[in-house]
Parts: sequence; C-alpha cells; structure tokens
Amino acid sequence: MKPDEVAVADKIFKRMIGSETIQNRIVELGEELNQEFEGKKPIFLGILNGCFLFMADLIKQIDVPCEVAFMKVSSYHGGMESKKVITEDYDLKMDITNRHIVIVEDIVDTGHTMRFITDKLVARNPASVSIVTLLHKPDAMEHQIDELKYIAFKIENKFVVGYGLDYKGLGRNLNDIYQVVQ
Ligand code: 5GP
Repeated sequence: MKPDEVAVADKIFKRMIGSETIQNRIVELGEELNQEFEGKKPIFLGILNGCFLFMADLIKQIDVPCEVAFMKVSSYHGGMESKKVITEDYDLKMDITNRHIVIVEDIVDTGHTMRFITDKLVARNPASVSIVTLLHKPDAMEHQIDELKYIAFKIENKFVVGYGLDYKGLGRNLNDIYQVVQ
C-alpha cells in the first residue's frame, strides 16, 4: 500500500482532499453563510450520521445567532450502492414555521435523499430551506435541487470515505477524505 493510501474494511482508498484544505474551505463557507443569514436566526439541521464532523467544524465558523438540530435518514446500507428507498430513522420534532433552515449534509450523490428531506421540510412552511454539503457528485445527480446553494467540494463519481463518511461502518474517523482505488 502506498503512503497516501488506507485500507477500510475490504477496500483500499487513496487520499483525495487533505484536512487543511477541508478546514480552509469551511472557513470560506462560514463567511458566506454569516453574510446570508445575518439577522435571520437560522436552524442548522445536520443529517446524521455522515454530517457529524462537518457540522462540528462548520458551526464553529458561524457567528450569527443560530440553533442546531439533527435528523437521521438512511439511504446507504453499508456498501457503495445508493438506495432509492430512504428510511427515516428520526425526524425533526421542532416547529419550523417561518424559520430559515440550513440543511448540513455530508454528500449529495443522486440527490434522492436531499429531494426527500427538502420536500418534507418545505411542506412544514419554513421561511426558507437551503442546503450546504461537504461533497457533491454532479455526474451522479438525478434531481433538480435548487436549494443546493453551498458546496464545499465537487468530486467525480467515485465512492469516498473519511471525515464523517463511512464504508461498511468504518472510516468515519479519518481526518482526510479518501477515494476508492478501482
Ligand atoms: P443520495 O441520496 O444523494 O444518492 O445519497 C446521499 C447519501 O448517500 C449521503 O448522505 C451518504 O450517506 C451516502 N453516500 C453517497 N455517496 C457516498 C460516498 O461516496 N461515500 C459514502 N461514504 N457515502 C455516500
């Protein structure tokens, strides 16, 4: 295995985005979000599990009054294939009427998960819904998602792990983001 490679479960992954690059980009996103949501008291809504490190680092850059909440859905079941059926493991209980919702997601792949969550939230009459995602695979996208306004990194359509994202339940603890070696 090469120095920039790591084994996660039964696959080898190669480093693609280092932690310093991730942190620098999060500072930039934080500046954009602070400008956009000044005076609006947004709710940052993390989608578990994959968002947990990104949410933690992003929220430290936010200097406008805000709330933090989480939802949990599952669309992947341990492997590398995206599932069209999304199971809701727990919903957002708070009242979001007239509130500005900023969904914090690890990765937008086909867009099924974001379409599902965004439609459900919009039906609850928020003031606005926007999405900030760490990663986006434009070539895999199967939906038009106008709410997807903040993207840290656009990547090619290959499976990735690290910085919150898993493969077979492992790899979330890696500081960098790694791409599967074919
Ligand atoms: P979508 O519904 O957009 O196809 O997929 C969204 C979810 O699938 C993400 O929240 C994430 O949990 C998972 N996912 C999509 N692509 C990847 C990937 O390359 N690596 C990992 N670990 N999860 C992914």
